[in-house]
Amino acid sequence: MTGRESEALTKVLGARSAAPLEKLGLVSVGDLLRHYPRRYGDPGTLTDMDRLALGEHVTVMARVAHATVRTMRSRSGAMLQAVVTDGRHELALTFFAKRAGALRPHEDKLRPGRVGLFTGVVSEYRGTRQLTHPDYVLVGVDADDAEAAMFEASRPIPIYPASSSVPSWRIQRSVRTVLDPLTEADVEDPVPADVRERAGLPGRLEALRAIHVPDDQRAWQRARHRFRFEEAFVLQAALAQRRAHAAEQEATARPLRDGDASSLLADFDAALPFTLTDGQRSVGEDLARELAQARPMQRLLQGEVGSGKTVVALRAMLQVVDAGGQAALLAPTEVLAAQHARTLRTLLGPLAEGGLLGGAAHGTRVALLTGSLGAAARKEALLQAASGEAGIVVGTHALLGDQVQFADLGLVVVDEQHRFGVEQRDALRAKGRVAPHVLVMTATPIPRTVAMTVFGDLETSSLTEVPAGRAGITSHVVPAGNPRWMERTWARVREEVDKGHRAYVVCPRIHPDDDLPAAGGAAAKDFDDVPDLLELMDGGGTGSGDDRPPLRAVLEVADMLRETPALAGLDVGVLHGQMAPADKESAMARFAAGELQVLVSTTVIEVGVDVPDATVMVVFDADRFGLSQLHQLRGRVGRGAAPGLCLLVSTAQPGTPAATRVEALAETTDGFRLATLDLELRSEGDVLGAAQSGRSSSLRLLRVVQDADLIADARREASAVVEADLGLADHPELRAAIEAQLDDEQEEFLERA
Ligand code: ADP
Ligand code: MG
Repeated sequence: MTGRESEALTKVLGARSAAPLEKLGLVSVGDLLRHYPRRYGDPGTLTDMDRLALGEHVTVMARVAHATVRTMRSRSGAMLQAVVTDGRHELALTFFAKRAGALRPHEDKLRPGRVGLFTGVVSEYRGTRQLTHPDYVLVGVDADDAEAAMFEASRPIPIYPASSSVPSWRIQRSVRTVLDPLTEADVEDPVPADVRERAGLPGRLEALRAIHVPDDQRAWQRARHRFRFEEAFVLQAALAQRRAHAAEQEATARPLRDGDASSLLADFDAALPFTLTDGQRSVGEDLARELAQARPMQRLLQGEVGSGKTVVALRAMLQVVDAGGQAALLAPTEVLAAQHARTLRTLLGPLAEGGLLGGAAHGTRVALLTGSLGAAARKEALLQAASGEAGIVVGTHALLGDQVQFADLGLVVVDEQHRFGVEQRDALRAKGRVAPHVLVMTATPIPRTVAMTVFGDLETSSLTEVPAGRAGITSHVVPAGNPRWMERTWARVREEVDKGHRAYVVCPRIHPDDDLPAAGGAAAKDFDDVPDLLELMDGGGTGSGDDRPPLRAVLEVADMLRETPALAGLDVGVLHGQMAPADKESAMARFAAGELQVLVSTTVIEVGVDVPDATVMVVFDADRFGLSQLHQLRGRVGRGAAPGLCLLVSTAQPGTPAATRVEALAETTDGFRLATLDLELRSEGDVLGAAQSGRSSSLRLLRVVQDADLIADARREASAVVEADLGLADHPELRAAIEAQLDDEQEEFLERA
């Protein structure tokens, strides 16, 4: 932003008024202007002072009798007390602040004799009627005459996101100080006039006035709509630039080696124990075509849990290896990376032993690179990647490290994208001499507008069907407090194990005395144990969580299960992110092989873990998880021929939103529906992974589900603008807005998405 909006608040408001705003993250004039009201208060109706009822929202016309600032002895802080009168009745006005200085603006204005309109909720203190922190408009100060004052007082009252040190009314005053003197020349509009006209949107200054100082409800609603559009438009313009920029890059064409006897892909296909679904085949053809082009593929593959995305990706990787390049597969957890490497090696057989005795002549190698490899193994993997000996390198974010080099990186596959962002993609992309092709896969299906918003720089392919012959999955909610239901739960687990199947038991915590594993915390180095808990998102200390039983923990539950009569004689293992990598690996392997029949784990198994013999999953504290994560979790069972069973143990009281959420999950297996529901039930920032406070995200008002049409419109308009003017030379305001957002907030938002 240039012009007035980039000016510092300290300069415009003075250091004393600006300092508390800075605590809210508001530093520049633009920051403050984008600090939109959260909601609007009812201005109240003009009331006679002899009819002031307690608890009522009123507006009175009165004259200031006197006003005094006092520091309080009992509490720290200061208080301003004024008395206003209509000549017969008196009403007290009370303002509190940390320091007396903060009350000076009121003291200055509320001079004896002045007439104004005062708005607030009537309360009583020691027998006196009073308004605490009333809004007011003074005739001759805030408004020219009584009529103008009446008009001012009839406006909806903006209520700002505030804090105890900066109340809403102070923010409102500061906004007015900044906003009132602005002229059209001071304000730059990133939305071009013709776009605005087509979309029926007011200009930026008009909208700023309407959102902060609305005449009526329609005014702020219209303004809010405009700013939602602006947010979507700037983001979509940035994404369109990204797409266009990528399209201009050169990539190495990796055409399919059809009908070639020494094709790894052909051998792989021949070794596949199943036939591809129609969807896998047709998406596969799309990918094959794009890989054959000399510009980088930029594709998002999304699909239902269990739809078989991995095979599609592996086939694309083999095409690239066949064409002489290398492929990197980036997985979000060590468990998953190890599993992918194992799957690849198994399916490729001798083809994965290129250069080894007994290996196929045209074979390649599959290297595994994770953060916890021993020095020798790490060196070996690095060497294989750098020499090109390994056609396929599978790894966690360790692949992003500086020491990792490739001989000829042709394709980057990012599995279960939820945890990787644009920056990581870019870091990997930069490892190719020329831009590699990129394929990103989501863990669960996502609504169209989320795809547009979060993955808007990618083209999208979808797998909608799951392979035939799956018996599907049934889910039930189990009330945690009901011992008979819990007994039945373990009896069902036992029945499944007796049939030769396996059971997962998922808990949100590792140790019973752990704090919640915070997202991105130390334990989450590999994102292994990060439950997508609603309480974390809801801000934790809201009280609602306090009277609930503590979250169940892996180690505690494993001990309990070992003592549970129904499970007597079974081997119960544990898996969580704090275990040594070798132990994790061995727990997974033993579970897959059936040496362990019950695996108690954190959400580390959430993404992509594939043990076809696992048929039953018990999720503790299911009511505390996000819906998409639960859907992804339960996708771990019912992957083979035997039907899957998911038992959602919930402590939610019937009728609460939490209970409704778990019931919704039990009722549907449609991932798109669940993702949409998830978004509707939670705030955007949470779902999109932006900073929880929402303050640092540039998406303040935009809602990705409700604003679907608006996002689609903004995307179309923004793409057209960028197509005609790639560098945005003719749209400096838009360019500046993109830069300002991408600089800090947007990068963070995209990165954590
Ligand atoms: P997701 O899309 O959730 O990542 P996966 O790629 O892990 O799903 O595939 C789930 C399971 O389905 C794997 O065991 C995989 O081998 C198997 N699978 C994939 N494609 C098919 C198919 N066409 N027919 C039968 N099984 C398949
Ligand atoms: Mg997968």
